[in-house]
Amino acid sequence: MNTAQPIRRIAILGGGTAGWMAAALLACKLRGLAESIQIIESPEIGTVGVGEATIPPIGLFNGALGVDEGEFMRETRATFKLGIQFQDWGRVGQRYFHPFGVFGTSPGMDTLHHFWLKARQHGETRAFEQWSLNAMAAQLNRFMRPEKSDGGLASLYSYAFHFDAGLYAQYLRRYAEQRGVRRVERKVEQVELRSADGFIQALRLDDGSRVEADLYIDCSGFRGLLIEEALHTGYEDWTHWLPCDRAIAVPCASAGELTPYTRSTARSAGWQWRIPLQHRIGNGYVYCSRYLSDDEATATLLAHLDGPALAEPRLLRFTTGRRRQFWNKNCIALGLASGFMEPLESTSIHLVQKGLTHLLNLFPDLDFAPCVIHEYNRRSIEEYERIRDFVILHYKATTRSDAPLWRQCQSMPVPEPLAYKIEQFQQTGRIVHYDSELFATSNWLAVLLGQEVWPRHYDPLTDQQDFAELHRRLDGVREAIRSAAEATPRHADYLKAGALIHA
Ligand SMILES: Cc1cc2nc3c(=O)[nH]c(=O)nc-3n(C[C@H](O)[C@H](O)[C@H](O)COP(=O)(O)OP(=O)(O)OC[C@H]3O[C@@H](n4cnc5c(N)ncnc54)[C@H](O)[C@@H]3O)c2cc1C
Repeated sequence: MNTAQPIRRIAILGGGTAGWMAAALLACKLRGLAESIQIIESPEIGTVGVGEATIPPIGLFNGALGVDEGEFMRETRATFKLGIQFQDWGRVGQRYFHPFGVFGTSPGMDTLHHFWLKARQHGETRAFEQWSLNAMAAQLNRFMRPEKSDGGLASLYSYAFHFDAGLYAQYLRRYAEQRGVRRVERKVEQVELRSADGFIQALRLDDGSRVEADLYIDCSGFRGLLIEEALHTGYEDWTHWLPCDRAIAVPCASAGELTPYTRSTARSAGWQWRIPLQHRIGNGYVYCSRYLSDDEATATLLAHLDGPALAEPRLLRFTTGRRRQFWNKNCIALGLASGFMEPLESTSIHLVQKGLTHLLNLFPDLDFAPCVIHEYNRRSIEEYERIRDFVILHYKATTRSDAPLWRQCQSMPVPEPLAYKIEQFQQTGRIVHYDSELFATSNWLAVLLGQEVWPRHYDPLTDQQDFAELHRRLDGVREAIRSAAEATPRHADYLKAGALIHA
């Protein structure tokens, strides 16, 4: 057996959320292996600066770094997130909640929705989300961390955070620099490729100096300076399924009670996000430029803020899709350089985290064996595509016909795995689960039932149970969840009591 030639030098291009997440995790996990980890960023170019809502696995990322959750929350002005409230998606005037975590009073209640579907046929009018502790607590603006030790209902909470993306990058920067990451404040002007195999040889900076590395991580944002401009990897465009291509973002002053959830409100040509932080609310309108001008989008956004705007609205343009390969030669793209999906389910930061996890699990040596690169790409592509399908579902499963975007989305053909999933659910009420899927049965159920996709049948085995007994059980579960939610502190009080607010 030959001794592998290890990767010693890593260069990360870009100091946005993706770049600093990469720097922090690699500095933590490659201690003693990597001789140098450098990050090159140009303040002149700047970062996207949005990306404020997350999903529960972010806790694993922070945990892997060993950071203290309280400190992280104070530093990034974070609030807790129990899920997403969707308004006007299935139809105008309708609202539903996509909670994190499970439905029912224990993780094993996979068939609960079949009981509910049967009860619905017999006149049950309460929404299925009332059987979710996360959803019920969110409706009451309440929050507490799961208490794993008690094994009771309080152990069911699953949560994520809303945070200030700029402050998160700064927090990770301090962490990474303390662990030896070297920051180079320069602009990359040229990328040198090895003539023999087209691998990246060096980055030439605007002061004429060069950065040489074994492995390059492209976190340069939408342009993909390394993965695309230098390596011409190619891009798969998904705008025929997800036609929104712009966003206007603006923060506003906080008003009213601090909510423990993101809100997504469908509008005529897209949707508006509302993300509550400790010191402000993040807002944005994601829209399709074919159906709405930038001025109209800005006016609509500004007309729907909770408080006065705190900055000038910012326009962002994007093309939904992904790089044909996330890892090409000795370059791995993360964050916006790897592709883009609108933040409807807050998945972009998670995909950075997953990319880094795969990199650590498949860490290469200087051979850069094609099978290792292939495996990284296979895993990443599958994850990306299953998330894409979940996002598409929100657009497809609507009965809105009041605007061209919604009519277009209702009638569009969807990717085959999604069409299959919808067909299975419509016929049987069952969720087909694919490998490498981030979103679980409960997530799919929340959106399908929330947007009123009704199955033709519930599971026939449900009929084995006496209906009166089934109804009593459903009522019992809901009652237990309601009481647990009511016994939970208010979100703002919980933050204060836990000393989680920035001083
Ligand atoms: C409208 C919108 C809303 C979003 N909302 C969410 C959300 O709620 N949740 C979520 O998870 N994600 C969200 N995202 C995605 C999230 O913002 C990004 O995934 C995240 O910020 C990572 O960005 P990045 O670091 O890849 O790129 P950027 O922030 O664009 O950073 C690029 C970096 O590259 C550097 N750079 C570029 N070119 C050069 C050069 N030539 N030389 C030197 N340096 C260079 C820049 O200086 C910068 O530091 C959203 C994105 C958009 C567009």
